[in-house]
Amino acid sequence: MQPLHPVLFVSHGAPDLLLDPGATGQRWSELGAALPRPSAILAVSAHWESAVPTVSRATAPQTIHDFGGFPRALYSLRYDAPGAPTLADRVAGLLGAAGIPVSVDPTRGLDHGAWAPLRLLYPAADIPVTQLAIQPQAGPRWHLRLGEALQPLREEGVLILASGAVTHNFAWLTVGATQPYPAAAAFADWLADRLAAPGSENLIDYRRTAPQGAAAHPTEEHLLPLFVARGAGGPGAPQRFAPGFIDGGLAMDAYLWPGGMAVSRPAGGI
Ligand code: ZN
Repeated sequence: MQPLHPVLFVSHGAPDLLLDPGATGQRWSELGAALPRPSAILAVSAHWESAVPTVSRATAPQTIHDFGGFPRALYSLRYDAPGAPTLADRVAGLLGAAGIPVSVDPTRGLDHGAWAPLRLLYPAADIPVTQLAIQPQAGPRWHLRLGEALQPLREEGVLILASGAVTHNFAWLTVGATQPYPAAAAFADWLADRLAAPGSENLIDYRRTAPQGAAAHPTEEHLLPLFVARGAGGPGAPQRFAPGFIDGGLAMDAYLWPGGMAVSRPAGGI
């Protein structure tokens, strides 16, 4: 049997990270070089929401600049990877077989939750990529189930790239802060402990069980991709990469479920 392909979750931060990649961008570049080359990529970004799981069949996905008020240079950046309609059909088939309703969008492109990390992970943009939308109204358990239904993709060399945020409370941000906001650090560490432990119940109930759980995510959409990754990655402990915080309050942690493949730890990773 082919080894399971790794599953990756990244905290994508703000799009201007691409203009100053820092420690987070360096980790992404190193991970892209260290990971086995995927046959295709399924991105699950916090920035595409739908009523039912929806997958894009775009053959040449457009780069969506779904943000405002950032430097002009960001609006000319693109990620012109080929689409992955075959993978989209496979995703629809797997979700359908699991009894999960699914819809297909013929043209939807890549939002910045997908293309910003992909530009650093796979700068050649030569790996077919598509996206699957999240359903914020459906909560963590639903997204765990989505991930579980997608597990067979790992046997087919597909990288599941979940993209959101470990903490996402803008009231915790202080522009230029060099020290982490204590509540953000506490939540990020709690999350790491829960991910390292078997079982997902505490994780699913994070709004009640975690320190500042609900405050860390006033709305849930940026954490939900992590549950997809956990569902696809399985109960084993993922590898944590914690390159620090942006503006004190945005924890930039990434998590890797390495599967059966040997993935060397990037230099300086913790
Ligand atoms: Zn975002």
